[in-house]
Amino acid sequence: MALSGELFIGLKRRATDLSFHAIDPASGRALAPAFSAAGTAEVEAACALASSAFETYRAMAHERRAEFLECIAKHILEQGEPLLQRAHEETALPLARLTGERARTVGQLRLFAAELRARDWLGLRADPALPLREPAARPDLRQRKIPVGAVAVFGASNFPLAFSVAGGDSAAALAAGCPIVVKGHPAHPGTGEWVAGAIVAAALETGMPEGVFSLLNGPDTALGTALIADPRIHAAAFTGSRSGGLALMKVAAARPEPIPVFAEMSSVNPVILLPGALATRAAGLAREFIASLTLGVGQFCTNPGLILAIEHEGLGQFIEGARAAIAAVTPAVMLTPGIHRSYLHALERLGAGAQLLARGADADGQNCGRAALYSVAAQSLLENPRLAEEAFGPAALIVRCAGLEEVLAIVRRLEGQLTATLQMAGPDLPLARSLLPALERKAGRLIVNGWPTGVEVCHAMVHGGPFPATSDGRSTSVGTLAIERFLRPVCYQGFPEELLPGELRDAELARSPHRLDGRQRAGGAS
Ligand code: NAP
Repeated sequence: MALSGELFIGLKRRATDLSFHAIDPASGRALAPAFSAAGTAEVEAACALASSAFETYRAMAHERRAEFLECIAKHILEQGEPLLQRAHEETALPLARLTGERARTVGQLRLFAAELRARDWLGLRADPALPLREPAARPDLRQRKIPVGAVAVFGASNFPLAFSVAGGDSAAALAAGCPIVVKGHPAHPGTGEWVAGAIVAAALETGMPEGVFSLLNGPDTALGTALIADPRIHAAAFTGSRSGGLALMKVAAARPEPIPVFAEMSSVNPVILLPGALATRAAGLAREFIASLTLGVGQFCTNPGLILAIEHEGLGQFIEGARAAIAAVTPAVMLTPGIHRSYLHALERLGAGAQLLARGADADGQNCGRAALYSVAAQSLLENPRLAEEAFGPAALIVRCAGLEEVLAIVRRLEGQLTATLQMAGPDLPLARSLLPALERKAGRLIVNGWPTGVEVCHAMVHGGPFPATSDGRSTSVGTLAIERFLRPVCYQGFPEELLPGELRDAELARSPHRLDGRQRAGGAS
């Protein structure tokens, strides 16, 4: 299938007079074709369709929504190598990585289909009437969760498949029963068009309502602003820069009816090296650290950008190992020229306040991210906390701490994080225990003896954390719990059985997991 460069307004393609090109970050050249950019008329049309699709889509049997998600996965796989090839040209990500990312994308869609069938997400509760209760009778009260309405999804530059047009946010919102209007990332519009084609084919094949999906493209912040300001949008999901996330949150909060923006923005993912771990496996830790840091040219939100190490003889060995490992890292092309520029600025900031320990091998090509490792004393970081801001790319800062108190002082001063990691051995248990309360307050996922890159898509995952890791630390953007962002609870008081929504009627309730008078029931009784 040749790319047309058109937008998708609902299930139909549309061209506009405004256009832009994707850029091959490896060569800097514009890639064909020209892509239509959406203006206010397209935002208006997509939001109107999404709004009109909402009632039909949310009323559909959950099984139908599950089939829709599985059908999207099927069509993405059927697109085969050309999809991966285009993603490679637009992002410079290696084909092997993109193959893995496609598997994750398809896996996420199928996981949300399974989640729909499991029905826990409905949050069913019933407190039966107590007509004889003294001093006052209790009416019958039942609760379920319903979708919030149309959702705006912002594709991420660093996951052209798994967090883009049919990525985790789209899968969660569609599973919840929300039509989506996707604002594609301007760095990979061709990949976006391919995937949109898969969604539209699946929507037609499974009989989804017109407007359940639209794709708007454009290289201008005005598009995202207009989308989030549209009164028919009821929530938004975003992964990208802190400035972008904050700008969208501001627009959302200033609307006559403010809406939540679930933004995933910036994190340095501290890793704490405890003495027992340094004593027993300093060299191995150094190799694993540099492998995690430089994976995907460091362009992961879970990149380990800050190492907090308690002074110990093993620390010297760790640093030497890390220097040697980083010097052997060959630079690779970053996702966009803009991301490369931001990375260079971040290195300037680090270089001004910390000591450069080692650089990766030198780079010839355009937009190559050369790895860098810095070190600083704990006291200097406490005096200059900007050193602990995200450097999106393969750069990290090692902080030398005199003891537990300095580690704790830094942890308490850190901003919110997606992850925090402890590298420990048996004798470190008391130290680890004393750090946990502070770490829990800072991060959404705590890791022992692992590395933060590589986010499992499952039920127990939290890919979230206090600001600025995300705009709302009560949620996650990865894993089945992500569906919660697009649902809200409704209570039905005193309803006759025949007026209750199907899933809250007695027989249906007995078949589903629910809480009856506060007690958990597995469901399944016929
Ligand atoms: P970005 O600049 O935040 O852009 C992400 C999306 O948001 C794009 O569609 C962009 O649209 C839109 N957007 C950005 N600012 C906006 C604004 N003020 N108003 C309305 N829409 C806005 O992120 P990026 O292009 O992926 O990368 C830039 C930087 O973000 C990186 O250097 C890195 O620092 C950070 N980043 C962080 C993560 C993470 O997971 N922590 C992931 C990716 C990127 P337009 O481009 O059309 O304006």
